[in-house]
Amino acid sequence: MPLYEYYCEPCNGIFEELRPMRESSDPVPCPECYKDAARIMPTSFAAFTFRDGYPRRIPDDGKFYHLGHKVSKPITGGRPNEHPEVNKPEPKKRRSKGEKKDLADMREAAAKGGLVDSMGNAVKPQEVTSLHDAGRIIKQGTPDRA
Ligand SMILES: [Zn+2]
Repeated sequence: MPLYEYYCEPCNGIFEELRPMRESSDPVPCPECYKDAARIMPTSFAAFTFRDGYPRRIPDDGKFYHLGHKVSKPITGGRPNEHPEVNKPEPKKRRSKGEKKDLADMREAAAKGGLVDSMGNAVKPQEVTSLHDAGRIIKQGTPDRA
């Protein structure tokens, strides 16, 4: 059975219901107040079902929705489309000892002018870490252009 969305006006909430297609346009009792709720199109709820700017879902578990993801808190400040629970910040990379040594060796080589990137450009010591983290190829060699 397909999943349909319904809107309960007294509760100002939306909920989903599995229903046979031929009954999909019939009202469904709201799980909170048991009043008839009308079917809505998935794209239409954003127009009217919001709580603090986020669509409310029934049963109401106190959660909010952010771009289709369930989150426990609405966004407070920051960039409007980036929720900390959805757009998780990249975890800070832990470098292994070997990796630290490799980076140190590369910086040392770069300081001597012996490192180039895949384009043949000279790599400066302070660029080694960011190029490495970006997955850019750094190799030993002399720059094509001095
Ligand atoms: Zn209701």
